[in-house]
Amino acid sequence: MQGVEAVQLTRSVDDSYDFVITADESCMHNYNMSFMAGFLACVPRDLLPNRVQKFVESKFFSEVPNKNGAAELSILALRKMEAYLSDLGYRVIVATPQSAAKLRGKAFLVSTMDPLGFGPATTTMVGLTGGKEPYNRFFFKRLIGDIKANNPTSLVVAGGPGIWEMDIDTEQQDKLGIDLVVFGPAEALERQFWDDLLQKKIAEKKIQTSSDRMRPDPHMIKGPSFWGMVEISRGCGRGCQFCDLELMSGFKWIPKDFILKEVAINSASPYVNNVTLLSEDILRYGTQAGDWKINHHIVDLVKEISKFGKRIAMTHCTFASALSNPKVTEDFSYYCGLDEKHLSGFQTGIETGSPKIMKRYMVGKLKPWKPDDWPEVVEQGMGVMVDNYIIPHCTIVMGLPEETADDTTKTLELVDRVRTYPSLILPLFFVPLSVLKGGFFIDKMMTPEQKALMSACSKHTAYWSKRLPNWSGQLGLLDRLVFQMGADYSFTYLNNLIAGKGYGTAGVMINAVKAMLKASAEIAIGTGKRMDYWEKTRRDYSVLQKLDPEYLEDLEVPRLGNIGKPPGSGCGCGIGGVANLEAENFGKGNS
Ligand code: SF4
Repeated sequence: MQGVEAVQLTRSVDDSYDFVITADESCMHNYNMSFMAGFLACVPRDLLPNRVQKFVESKFFSEVPNKNGAAELSILALRKMEAYLSDLGYRVIVATPQSAAKLRGKAFLVSTMDPLGFGPATTTMVGLTGGKEPYNRFFFKRLIGDIKANNPTSLVVAGGPGIWEMDIDTEQQDKLGIDLVVFGPAEALERQFWDDLLQKKIAEKKIQTSSDRMRPDPHMIKGPSFWGMVEISRGCGRGCQFCDLELMSGFKWIPKDFILKEVAINSASPYVNNVTLLSEDILRYGTQAGDWKINHHIVDLVKEISKFGKRIAMTHCTFASALSNPKVTEDFSYYCGLDEKHLSGFQTGIETGSPKIMKRYMVGKLKPWKPDDWPEVVEQGMGVMVDNYIIPHCTIVMGLPEETADDTTKTLELVDRVRTYPSLILPLFFVPLSVLKGGFFIDKMMTPEQKALMSACSKHTAYWSKRLPNWSGQLGLLDRLVFQMGADYSFTYLNNLIAGKGYGTAGVMINAVKAMLKASAEIAIGTGKRMDYWEKTRRDYSVLQKLDPEYLEDLEVPRLGNIGKPPGSGCGCGIGGVANLEAENFGKGNS
C-alpha cells in the first residue's frame, strides 16, 4: 500500500493473547488533545505536503503511553471490550495501534469510528477540499494491513460505531482481509460465541448482534480511558431518523455508584486530568423514560464527581434538555466548576431551522417542546448554555431527503438569529446510515441556499473559534492549534468564495495548515507569553467585513455568563424565556 511504512516485527516471550484489542491512530491519537481534536482525522492526508504530514502525524497522532505495547490509556470502547472479555476469563490486551501488529494474538479485535471515511464530518471535509484519502481511512487500512502481514493465521474482527460503512462499500471487507465484521455492540455476544471464534468455528463473515441483547450490564473498566471518559448512559431515547438507530436503541442510564467507581479508576491515572461524561444527552441523567424535564440526578452526580478534584468535561446534550430546567443547568455548571475562565462545551444538534423537518424526522429531539417552537428552543437553549459558561458545538444536517429551499432558508435564518451567542456551528452532509435511505449528499449537490448556509456557518464558526481559545482555561496547546487551524480554514474558505474560486480547492486546506504551522511556531517561541489570537489575527477579519461590514459591530458584546441575556428572557438564566414556550409534555409521555 502506498505510503505505508512496514512495522518492525519484534515479539517478546510473553506476548501471546486470546484477544488483542486495538483501534487505529484516528481514535488513539495524542491524549493531550481533547476529543474535539478527533475532527483532525477527517482531514484528507493526500492534500498535505510531506513535511506537514510528518509534523501532523508525529504531533497529533503520536503513540499513547504504553508498556510493551499495552496501552496505559485507551479510548473507552476498547476498555469496555477488555473489561467484558477479561471478566469472561480470556487473556486480553489493549494495544496501541503502533504496537498491536507486533503482538501475537489468536484474534485481533479492531474498533473503528470511521474506517472508510464515510462519516458526515469526513465526507463534508473531503468534499469541500477535493481531497481523496482522509486520515481515518488511511490509518484504518494501514492497521489492518500491518496486522494481516505480521499475523497471517490470526483472525481479524472489526466492529465499533463506524462499522456500518462496511455495508456501504461491501467489497472492502475482502479487500482488506477482515475475517468477520460485527454490527452492533460486541459486548452482546455470549461466551459461546467467543469460544467458537477462537476455535475458528464461526462461518459467517458478518454478524448482527441482537438488539434485545445489546445492553447487558456494563463491565467495569480495568484501566483509565482517554480524557477520563465514563459512560453515564447507553443509547438515546430521542430516535432521530438520520441517526444510527441500532446503535442508539436500548436506552438506559448507568447507576451512579458504578460511574463513581470508574471515575476513581480514571482519577488514579497520571495521564488523566479530566473526568468526561459520555452520554447523548447528559443533562437528562436519571430521568424516567418519557420524562423530558431534567432533574436533580445530574446535579447529584456531578457534585459527587467533583470530589475527585478533576475538571469535569462533557460530550453531548440537547437544547431541549438544557431549556427544560435552566436551574438544573445552572447547578450542573456550578458543580462542574465552570466560570468565565473555565468554559466547557456540549456537542449539540441544531440540525435544521425548519419545524417541518423537525416534525418529520426528529420529533423526539425537541421534546418536551413542539416542532413549531424549534427555532425558539434552539435560541433560548443556547442562551441557557452560554449564560452558564457552556459553549454549544453545534451540527446542522445538510441535504436531508426532501429538504426544500424554504427549509434551508429557515436554517439560515436561525443561524443568523444565534450569531451573538458564542458557539461553533458545523454543517455536515447527510449520510444515509439508518432508516433514512437515499444517496449520500455531496458538495456538488449544494443549492444556492445551501451554499449560503455553508458560508454563514463558516463565518460564525470562524469568528467564535478565534475568540474562544483565549477565554477558556481548559484548552491545551494542541487544541488551540486545532482551533487555529479550523478558524484559518474557514477564513481561507471565505476568501475563496469572495474570489469566486468555488468550494473544492486543495489550496484551502494547505493554507489552513500553513497558518497552523505559523501559529505553532509563534506559540513555541512565545516563551510562555499567552498568544492573543484576536490581536494576532485581526487582519483576517477584513474578510468578514468585506462580506458583511456590520458583522463585527453587532458582536461587540458577546453573550456569556450573564453578560447578555437571551432575547425574551426575564433573567440571565433564561427562565423568563422558557415561560414563553409551551411544553408539550413535561411528565411521562410518548417517546
Ligand atoms: S438526540 Fe442525538 S443521539 Fe439521540 S437519536 Fe437524535 S441525533 Fe441520535
